[in-house]
Amino acid sequence: MQCPHCGHGKHKVIDTRERGETIRRRRQCLVCEQRFTTYEHVAPSLLVSKRDGHREPFDPQKLLAGIRIAAVKRPVSSERMKSIANFVEDRIQRMGRAEVTSEMIGNLVLDQLADVDQVAYIRFASVYLDFSHLSEIRSEVDRLMGRSDLEADAAGRGDARERPSAG
Ligand SMILES: [Zn+2]
Repeated sequence: MQCPHCGHGKHKVIDTRERGETIRRRRQCLVCEQRFTTYEHVAPSLLVSKRDGHREPFDPQKLLAGIRIAAVKRPVSSERMKSIANFVEDRIQRMGRAEVTSEMIGNLVLDQLADVDQVAYIRFASVYLDFSHLSEIRSEVDRLMGRSDLEADAAGRGDARERPSAG
């Protein structure tokens, strides 16, 4: 924290007062000796809202556990799972929002898992996004198969069938 008068970072606390949820500290700069005030308060915890409207505090351990369950017996290292969880947590903290949806978190994880392991991807999608209809899982599978078909086409084995869209 820099002194608002001279910009230096060295100062001492000369008075501390608690006011309800807030702590007010009077500080004196060790360079210019001018005084300034800082306030401390507990940062509100990030809330995750579910599809059913239920809210709960964001839990990094729960996020990692979800990735672990999806990747059981798959060739995904523990370090990789942790780095995915850390990446996702970092992204949502940077959004600076008080509340995110479980879908936003799920999509961030899925973006990462898609490049790591397709089975873990589908497992995670079916659990974390709370698919209520088989057709939703089907469309996720189709989307993944689409990726594979593109790779297969590149290898000269394109047999994907086009279906008319319902739109
Ligand atoms: Zn100063």
